[in-house]
Amino acid sequence: MILGVESSCDDTGLALWDGRKGQFLYEKTSSQIDLHADYGGVVPQLAAREHLRNFPLLLEDLMQHVDPSQITGIAVTCGPGLAGSLALGIAFAESLGLILHREVVGIHHLRGHILSSFMDRDPRERRFQMDNFPHLSLLVSGGNTILSELDADFNVRVLAETMDDAAGEAMDKGAKLLGLKYPGGPEIERFAASGNEKRFRFPQAFTGDGEMAFSFSGLKTSLRYMLEKLNDEDRCGQFSDICASYQFAVVDILARKMEQNLKRGNFKSVGLSGGVANNRQLRMRVQELGVKYGIHCYLPQPKYTGDNASMIAFAAGVDGRHTLKEIDFYPRWSLEGRDRKG
Ligand code: AMP
Ligand code: MG
Repeated sequence: MILGVESSCDDTGLALWDGRKGQFLYEKTSSQIDLHADYGGVVPQLAAREHLRNFPLLLEDLMQHVDPSQITGIAVTCGPGLAGSLALGIAFAESLGLILHREVVGIHHLRGHILSSFMDRDPRERRFQMDNFPHLSLLVSGGNTILSELDADFNVRVLAETMDDAAGEAMDKGAKLLGLKYPGGPEIERFAASGNEKRFRFPQAFTGDGEMAFSFSGLKTSLRYMLEKLNDEDRCGQFSDICASYQFAVVDILARKMEQNLKRGNFKSVGLSGGVANNRQLRMRVQELGVKYGIHCYLPQPKYTGDNASMIAFAAGVDGRHTLKEIDFYPRWSLEGRDRKG
């Protein structure tokens, strides 16, 4: 019975994972999205203050659903993330650990995301079978775009990362230029649904086979130039086509890079995680890759795509080897784990 504690950025989360039954007994996330929406991004001090307010409320709620003495261990996100936000989660977890006399272990937030692909609705699918590895993982969020290989011992090897903006950031910044609200990904997807994705061609970076990186800053600049050239009438009339074409440029390069790696490697499964994994076009493209290469495709349930404590508890439950015993906050902790201080 592992209690997961998450507060790396602007979401406060608690979740209780029953490892024996393979299910969650409690899971809740307090989102701060409305608070930060006016600023167009997360404001660290405001995020920390909200965590401070939310943790006691969540604990009170948890205690109405489960008896805290059921908790046998606590897993808390130690990084990467905002220092103040991480510190509050860690202080909360360690205090609870002292009161309940339970061990507290640290979890790498991005490892939590990567493993969240496996949090399938069907508990049987959650079983990690040797023939699902190596696994090709695409983590796409507001802060990260990481294509990596996960081996059967859950070691992560990063294959490609973004040189500038993350995929979610590209959606958010594009949406801002289009006058849409934050977070921009769902907004662009909403308008894109009725648009023609082939209408405009936005530039894609590093499309070549051997080019193991992503870059999205040129895409955003190209949208800005394009919007400057359009008059108000054209801008309105072609709005959904612009959204669909912009979304296509982001999704297509993600799927193409995945496929380049599938061709080259000997991957036995693919998976998506992070906030952008909510995008239906992206989910479809990754599913198609699974079918084309005859391998299993792991798509997280939408409720597990954003930051949540369930993935932190789950990561501790299924992967004890990579948990951290020296609890401290590591805002720049690298995914391959070499430099924690960063
Ligand atoms: P995270 O950083 O994991 O909390 O995820 C938030 C990011 O995911 C933001 O950049 C959102 O714009 C993006 N996002 C959320 N839903 C979607 C969607 N349906 N399509 C594209 N991007 C999305
Ligand atoms: Mg995250």
